[in-house]
Amino acid sequence: MALLRRLAVNAPRNVRVLSSAPSPRDDLDLNFNSPKDAFKSKKTSELVRAYFVYQICSVNWIVENNAMLMRRLRQVVGQRLFEIIMKATFYGQFVAGEDQNTIRPTIDRLHSFGVKSILDYSVEEDISQEEAEKREVSASISESGDKQEEGQLKQYHVEQRFADRRYKVTSARTYFYLNEASCEKNMEAFLKSIDAVAGVTKSTGLMAVKLTALGRPQLLLQLSEVIMKARNYMQQIGGGTGNVLTHHKTIEDFQRYFGSHSNKPEVQEFMKKITSDKEGIVHLFPWSNILDKDMGLSDSFRVPDPKTGQMRRLISQISPKEEEMFRNMLRRLNHIIQAANEVDVRIMIDAEQTYFQPAISRICLEMMRRYNKDKFLVFNTYQTYLKNTYNEIVTDLEQAQRQNFYWGAKLVRGAYIEQERARAAAMGYEDPTCENIEATTTSFHKCLKEILSRAEQKGRLGIMVASHNEDTVRYAIQLMKEHNIKPDDKVVCFGQLLGMCDHITFPLGQAGYSAYKYVPYGPVLEVLPYLSRRANENRGFLVKIKKEKSLLLKEIARRIFTGQIFYKPNGKYTPV
Ligand SMILES: Cc1cc2nc3c(=O)[nH]c(=O)nc-3n(C[C@H](O)[C@H](O)[C@H](O)COP(=O)(O)OP(=O)(O)OC[C@H]3O[C@@H](n4cnc5c(N)ncnc54)[C@H](O)[C@@H]3O)c2cc1C
Repeated sequence: MALLRRLAVNAPRNVRVLSSAPSPRDDLDLNFNSPKDAFKSKKTSELVRAYFVYQICSVNWIVENNAMLMRRLRQVVGQRLFEIIMKATFYGQFVAGEDQNTIRPTIDRLHSFGVKSILDYSVEEDISQEEAEKREVSASISESGDKQEEGQLKQYHVEQRFADRRYKVTSARTYFYLNEASCEKNMEAFLKSIDAVAGVTKSTGLMAVKLTALGRPQLLLQLSEVIMKARNYMQQIGGGTGNVLTHHKTIEDFQRYFGSHSNKPEVQEFMKKITSDKEGIVHLFPWSNILDKDMGLSDSFRVPDPKTGQMRRLISQISPKEEEMFRNMLRRLNHIIQAANEVDVRIMIDAEQTYFQPAISRICLEMMRRYNKDKFLVFNTYQTYLKNTYNEIVTDLEQAQRQNFYWGAKLVRGAYIEQERARAAAMGYEDPTCENIEATTTSFHKCLKEILSRAEQKGRLGIMVASHNEDTVRYAIQLMKEHNIKPDDKVVCFGQLLGMCDHITFPLGQAGYSAYKYVPYGPVLEVLPYLSRRANENRGFLVKIKKEKSLLLKEIARRIFTGQIFYKPNGKYTPV
């Protein structure tokens, strides 16, 4: 066994590696070229279906007109037959089933081939662009209006042209705010999903949550703006660049900065409230009080103006009703996390657009601080296509270490690139994304390396490499070896979408790595927007699909020529 382990650690990149985990465990082909390993969990009919679906996704005209085609098909054949056709094709390929009972066979099959599940109730409202824009604009402006204020950061304000947040987004779901009741309904759907995860995944499952489902977007915009303004403020005091927490400032630095104004009672009061920990790291605002205790937003974010010594608000006006909506959003999130905790399900908070992300990430980190004291319960998501993500990760890792909580993260490239760029160009602010795909990959790998090199936090640090990119998966495995992280240490896990890149997920799971599928479920008619986006995204993945199609053909041919056309998958693997 020791010899096998040494072989696994020292093996070069493109040779077959012997896994050290107990039996049954397959060897892992790091080139992901083995059709047999990729598809041993599939019946031959499922391979044919996958090939057919990918083939259709390669036809531009069909993909571009998929929504219209699905509508027409439904009109012509009627709802019942339409559902049968969808289940035999796209729905069957990308969606696990309608509810927690019908998804069970898929989840069980994944499990028996070493793959765990992240459940995502993928029901989406199919609203028009006009309706989406109307809802978004009205839900993104505060009761006091969207007035131009001094020092305003324009990217954190709604822009009519980009109010339909689905614009050029294929790999993520979008929620549009209707009212508080609709957020309650979304919360109920998440709670039901938690039951489904608990019931079908044998305590190995995760559930994905989007914060925009739980509250008014205006509040996330305002909170994001205040966070960025606070960073700018700290930069003025500290000089240089970086995030709030990376400025190792002391109260004396503040006194020097405010000069004679520091004797004013309101400035004294402000400085009294600033907390700084033993390492001298200043926290401008008491986040834990703001999020845990009912501290008002309007009153919390005030800083002294260095020129006048007068206190000024960093946040635009928030009415008592909006304060209540903010509390509601946090209450819903807390409720979901607590419910998940009771049944041993972990929560993964998705990353969304950059104008919401500072708030989402801050709330998520505070939830980790609160709930991840002695285990992984809440995971954040970091988008590595953003130029600043490396700094964010370092800052958050430091906070987790200082405050002694488990830091769980999903690392992705990011789903909103075209929209982010178009919005930045149209509104005239700096493009927040990396300049090209190579830079995004460099950023992903740099973040991964940083995280895995923090050996001192090992055991309190968990990372999901959520990517369909083979090089990234290989790089993660290489880093695991370099840092002596074993597949079953559960420090690193991998995630891909159901129905995509099976040639990566299954060989990983079968070789004893912690592998997950993102598993959408929901009634056929209500997941059509999801399927529509899946078709679009696959078109963008032509190179990956080409490889998967070729592996599918090889496996179909192998089964025909070896008389295994009626092969019945029967996995005996146990996920780590
Ligand atoms: C399990 C799972 C969970 C996910 N959760 C989230 C989430 O919470 N939030 C989220 O935003 N996304 C999420 N995604 C989607 C993810 O961000 C990517 O959009 C998707 O996975 C494609 O990236 P890749 O690494 O798989 O593939 P690759 O093909 O290697 O990379 C494609 C990605 O590279 C980036 N890119 C493409 N062109 C350029 C360019 N010209 N310049 C710079 N960068 C470029 C884009 O991010 C693009 O999506 C998730 C994906 C998975 C599998």
